[in-house]
Amino acid sequence: MRNMSSFPDDTSDLRFEIIETARALPRLGLTKGTSGNVSARTKSGFLVTPSGMPYEDLTADKIVALDLDGCYRGEYLPSSEWRMHLDFYLAKPACGAVVHCHSPRATALSCHRRGIPAFHYMVALAGGDRIECADYASFGTRALSDAMIAALGDRNACLLANHGQIAGGPTLEKALTITEGVEDLADQFLSSLILGEPVILDADEMAEILRKFKSYGKQTSELEAGQAAAFELPKRVD
Ligand code: 13P
Ligand code: ZN
Repeated sequence: MRNMSSFPDDTSDLRFEIIETARALPRLGLTKGTSGNVSARTKSGFLVTPSGMPYEDLTADKIVALDLDGCYRGEYLPSSEWRMHLDFYLAKPACGAVVHCHSPRATALSCHRRGIPAFHYMVALAGGDRIECADYASFGTRALSDAMIAALGDRNACLLANHGQIAGGPTLEKALTITEGVEDLADQFLSSLILGEPVILDADEMAEILRKFKSYGKQTSELEAGQAAAFELPKRVD
């Protein structure tokens, strides 16, 4: 869990990072037009993209500051999904950034109101053994945010019925990586359905995958005391 004081100040650097992350969405094929929104937590609340503004028109002064009571400052209206971003931060103290988008494959799946089961071990990237699809509610409503919180549970991403997906992470970079991962999984899951329902990994295997993910990507010197490596290591002989 992160202490609020460990989140960054509201600086122009952080505002530019939000703009860069927002502009990565269309570049990566994760959204089109003004769909989607991006936020980052600060010491005093969070910064979010303004509502309905083309990503190429974003400048640092148009990024909107809100506090954790949901009050905003400045002349630009915050994203219509400000409450989903706020509630994400309130529910997940370690979360430092949130990305919402209408990525094509996650959105297609959400229109069938289907989440992503453990058809592939990578569903663990969202922190659990499946990725849920939230119940439908109109965009920009408290009801949508409540449905998102219910679908997230203890995970950090979910689909939003007939709408898209939302993902959070400790940093903007990690939140964007999870967003891309959810889209990849939705793509693979939809492809697998061509041959019928795929084989689903069982709860024990997914518990093991979640354990392995805690050390995956770490060098041996970075493992905590007693922490096992993510895989069976070959013998080092140098
Ligand atoms: P905003 O332009 O208000 O952020 O809305 C886009 C969106 O995706 C609504 O769900
Ligand atoms: Zn949306």
